[in-house]
Amino acid sequence: MDFDKILKEALKREISPKEALFLFRKTQNWERLLQLFKTACRVRDDEIGRECKLMGFICCITPCNTDPPCKYCFRWANERLFSEEAVLSDDELEIAVKTLEERGLKRVELGGGTLWGEEGRQRTLRAVKVACKSSRLEIWINNGPSYRVEDLPQMKKLGVTGIACNLETINEAVFSKMRPGDNFQLRKAIIEASERLGLQIDNTLMIGLGQQAGQPHPYEDWVNFFYYFKQFKNLRIIEIHPFRPITNSPVQDWPAGSEFESEKARAIARLIFRNIDISGGNYLTGLLAGGNLIMHCLPITKKFRAWREHRGHVRLVDLSPNLALVDNLQLITRTAREMGMEIEQ
Ligand code: SF4
Repeated sequence: MDFDKILKEALKREISPKEALFLFRKTQNWERLLQLFKTACRVRDDEIGRECKLMGFICCITPCNTDPPCKYCFRWANERLFSEEAVLSDDELEIAVKTLEERGLKRVELGGGTLWGEEGRQRTLRAVKVACKSSRLEIWINNGPSYRVEDLPQMKKLGVTGIACNLETINEAVFSKMRPGDNFQLRKAIIEASERLGLQIDNTLMIGLGQQAGQPHPYEDWVNFFYYFKQFKNLRIIEIHPFRPITNSPVQDWPAGSEFESEKARAIARLIFRNIDISGGNYLTGLLAGGNLIMHCLPITKKFRAWREHRGHVRLVDLSPNLALVDNLQLITRTAREMGMEIEQ
C-alpha cells in the first residue's frame, strides 16, 4: 500500500479498514500528519461545507450509582459531581432547555451518570418528557444505560433525536477492566436497538483507554471501533478524545491519551465516515483534523459544578438560585471563525 495513493483516493471515496489501519501505522511524523490533515479537511469541506455545528450541554439528568465507579471517572476526584445534588429538578431542566433554545442552539445533549434499576428508567423518561415538551431542540440522551432497550420506543415517541451510549473502546476486555461496574453488551444492545428504531447515534472513542506506559497503540481496536459504527445508517456523531488520568482515581498514574494519536484518529474517521459530524471543532488541531462539531456549548449545570474546561475567561450566568450557564460560545467558536468556517445559526 502507498500512503500518498491512499490519501489521493480518499478524496474521492471512503477508505477501507485495511487502508485505515495502514494510515494509523504509517502516520508517524509531522509531514505525514499534515498530509493526513489536509486530506481530512478537504473531505470535510467537500462533503459538508465549512460549517461548524453546535451541541449544547445540560447535566445531570440522573445521578450515578455504578459500583464500583468506572476507573477513570470524575467521581474519584469529586464525589458530588454525579450525586443526587448534581441532578436538575424538572423546573430547572425546563429553564435550561428553554434558555438554550432562546440563545439559538438547535440541539442539546442531556448528560448524567448511570442510574441502574427501575429508578433510572423512570427518571430518564421523566427528564425526556420535560425536555421534549419544553423546547424544539434536538434532544440527545447521554446517561449510560440508565434505561433499558425496551424504553427506547417510548423515548423516540416522546421526541428524542439521538442516543449517546458511549463504548469508548470496542475491546470488551478493556471495557470490563476499566468499567467493572458497567455492561458492555448492554451498551451495544442499546446502540443496535437505536439503529433499528431510527434513533440517531452518537458515540465516543477514547484514545489511550486502558493503555499502560510503553504498550503499543491498539490500532486494530480503533479501526474495529470505527467499522463497528460504520454499519449503522443512523450514525450521526463520532466523538474522539484522549484518556484523562483523573486525580485520586485508580488510574491516576497511567499515561494520558496521546494528542497526536487522537488527532490522527479524528482525521482517519473523517476519511471513513465522510459526512457525519465529528467532534473537535472547538480547537485548532481538531479543526485541522477534519472536525466540524463543537460539543459542550453553553453548558448548564448546578452552580457548584459549573463546566470550566476551556482556556480563557467565561462568564457565569445565573439561571436560578442553584443553576448556572457558562457563557462560552464566543470562546469556543473563535478558532473556527478565525479559520474561515461558518458557525451554525
Ligand atoms: S457511568 Fe459515567 S458517571 Fe458513572 S462511574 Fe462510569 S464514567 Fe462515572
